[in-house]
Amino acid sequence: MKTIFHLDMDAFFVSVERVLDSSLEGKPVIVGGDPYGRGVVAACSYEARKFGLQSGMPIRTAFRLCPQGIYLHGHGKEYERYSNIVKEILESYSPTVQQASIDEFYLDFTGCEIIYGTALSLAQKIQFDIWQQFALPCSIGIASNKTIAKIASDYKKPKGITLVAQGKEKEFLAPLPIEKIPGIGKKTFPLLRARGFKTVGDIANSSPDYLSVLLGKFGNELWEKANGNGSEILTIERERKSISKETTFGTDIVDKVAIEIKLFELTGKASQLLRNENLQVSTVSIKLRYSDFVTVTRARTIIPTDDDKAIFNIAVDLFRKAFTRRVGIRLIGIHLSKLSYFGEQEVLFEDENIIRKRMLRAVMKIRDKYGYQAIHIGKT
Ligand SMILES: [Mg+2]
Repeated sequence: MKTIFHLDMDAFFVSVERVLDSSLEGKPVIVGGDPYGRGVVAACSYEARKFGLQSGMPIRTAFRLCPQGIYLHGHGKEYERYSNIVKEILESYSPTVQQASIDEFYLDFTGCEIIYGTALSLAQKIQFDIWQQFALPCSIGIASNKTIAKIASDYKKPKGITLVAQGKEKEFLAPLPIEKIPGIGKKTFPLLRARGFKTVGDIANSSPDYLSVLLGKFGNELWEKANGNGSEILTIERERKSISKETTFGTDIVDKVAIEIKLFELTGKASQLLRNENLQVSTVSIKLRYSDFVTVTRARTIIPTDDDKAIFNIAVDLFRKAFTRRVGIRLIGIHLSKLSYFGEQEVLFEDENIIRKRMLRAVMKIRDKYGYQAIHIGKT
């Protein structure tokens, strides 16, 4: 059974604007450009929503409904910067963070109760952390799959936390209006309403065959969602494609041992970067450049590891086989590629030890940052 969080920043663009300019606090703020222009509302504050405004609405319509609003063009670069900051905070809590959009994240906290206590108190802690550090509000949904977690994060906003207990998914969904299901949009909504579907429960009680005739491929998916089913797999971006460390010698070197010592040093640094990011390497390469600029690279694919010694053994072997000329060396380098997250493969098999290992690594990272007292595991 999975414990998945969906964290959604509340009126994110507006919240960032308020960080940049506190005089916007408590006012109807609309991000999306010129009120006389052709743009749409990118985001609006909860004060503006009281006038009937919502994102996606033409700015002109918004202006008609709320002429006293403050209309801003927005600061795209700042939104990105704060989005990255939020992601960094989240990654200090869990190594498994999937960014779904600029202001939405999925986190996998399966099996973390031993480390963090209840999922609910963890959500409160994360929400408070982001609020206290950056004055950015967010809402969190907790459930056994991504779909329910996303619907739950939207259930109480702003600054809400909603936990859907295991086994209560259908019960939670049943009374909600159909448009709460992700994927029901401008096309599908009228189709379903015309056939009398009002609540998610109505969809759940229908049949997948009927919905497929009505909506095509989406019909079956929709029925599954309405019945509380959804994906549990987080797709994690690989920001790091590879890690490289290389050195150019001041003078060309022929001494094999001296070069191997350098290679050892570079391997240590590269492996440290690997472990810092919870990564393992599958392809180890070396590069050497002779004094006449002839450059040789050699690579080998191995079982994923983050172990210095294993990586160095491969690197030095590649080096010895590549260093065949009696010519001085001016550059030596190591390159680690085909990187995967630690325990990624094994997690498919739900091995508790692996999950625990992953969590321990996340804990170690938090301790590195905030000190040993930051987190207690179990009864320590
Ligand atoms: Mg949001």
